[in-house]
Amino acid sequence: MSQHRLCILGATGSIGLNTLAVVREHPERFQIDVLTANTNVKQMVALCSEFRPRQAIMVCTEAAAELAQVLRSQPSTAAIEVRSGLGPLQEAASNEANDTVMAAIVGGAGLAPTLAAVQAGKRVLLANKEALVMSGQLFMDAALTSGAQILPVDSEHNAIFQCLPREAQQLGRCDLAAAGIDKIILTGSGGPFRELPLAELTEQSPAAACAHPNWDMGQKISVDSATMMNKGLEYIEARWLFNCTAAQLDVVLHPQSVIHSMVSYADGSVLAQMGRPDMRTPIAHCLSFPERIASGVEPLDFMALQNLTFASADAERYPCLALAIKACWQGQWATTALNAANEVAVAHFLNGSLRFTAIAEVCAAVVKQLETTHAGHDVNSLEAVLSVDGQARTNATNLIEMNYSC
Ligand code: NAD
Ligand code: MG
Repeated sequence: MSQHRLCILGATGSIGLNTLAVVREHPERFQIDVLTANTNVKQMVALCSEFRPRQAIMVCTEAAAELAQVLRSQPSTAAIEVRSGLGPLQEAASNEANDTVMAAIVGGAGLAPTLAAVQAGKRVLLANKEALVMSGQLFMDAALTSGAQILPVDSEHNAIFQCLPREAQQLGRCDLAAAGIDKIILTGSGGPFRELPLAELTEQSPAAACAHPNWDMGQKISVDSATMMNKGLEYIEARWLFNCTAAQLDVVLHPQSVIHSMVSYADGSVLAQMGRPDMRTPIAHCLSFPERIASGVEPLDFMALQNLTFASADAERYPCLALAIKACWQGQWATTALNAANEVAVAHFLNGSLRFTAIAEVCAAVVKQLETTHAGHDVNSLEAVLSVDGQARTNATNLIEMNYSC
């Protein structure tokens, strides 16, 4: 049995808490070295009291000061070092005191610390798909150079990873054709608006968009699931992780979320990974790989399952999916710009200042704007990625303020 010391980036989020739920069941296997969060002091106090990390980091300075004050007042937590800001996040992710980093910050904010963990040669459990969407080749090259082991937490990519033969589990450089694989098939539920009349999409509220029929997740990924930008980001994520060509990557709607994705082999065999829609399964798989541990998730009850159905994604209902697939093959500038525009648009949608259907419009317009200056140019350093990301965020914000106030 191997023991691991963990740094959890984004400990207070949906993935962070599910990770700690699995860790809680296996105290002999895992020790918590670092917990990080943005602003949620109350949750961090509870987690620090329970897991007693060496270090607790909050990005927000006031939140860190508040956390430090509470932890110092309790004898059991007084020794925990509290730090604040972005620098300490990267330092913690690359510190030798831990060997495994759960990358579970949401959005582009996770890129720098996740990349720091990769460059330091850690075992990186990757939930923060935006980091890979933004940095693609750079991320995979950094893993190859440092020897970092990337394990995919995203349920689809975890499912695919599980369905690959051992020799093809070399993420970033697997040769699918040599392994007898024709296609990777990503499944997606279609989100809460799959059957809504198209004319009603425009008036959907943040609460309705976040009410996912199968999964309980953070707000941003819930909105991304409703637009299917999430599946688009996952398409880009799959391209990098599994080294796919366009012909080797398909998306299929599967509303029940029982099959988490599939691998189709040349001999006609299709391997699928199934399970309840509960992130503790892929998290436990990554935490203990190549061993298996209990996750706390019940096995599927086949007698209780209704029909398993499949369909293609309707392009009119899900324009974000097509935008992401196009950007994937346009280049790194396009996926970085798309991701940034989407983050800005989703934040505006969530605070009530953008209509649901305008998310796709803003994304399309920003990628088009950046195409004139960026098409054909390499984006192969962290600075170049952050520059495209910054420009796309500025353009998206300006566009929304000028054309889309609601
Ligand atoms: P969440 O919103 O529930 O949690 C986000 C975490 O990141 C929190 O701990 C928060 O404190 C931290 N954070 C937010 N902004 C930050 C910032 N600017 N700097 C530093 N830390 C910050 O999100 P989530 O649903 O747990 O998703 C996390 C990541 O995992 C996302 O990239 C998402 O796409 C991916 N993912 C999530 C699920 C899921 O079921 N929730 C499934 C697959 C993949
Ligand atoms: Mg997913």
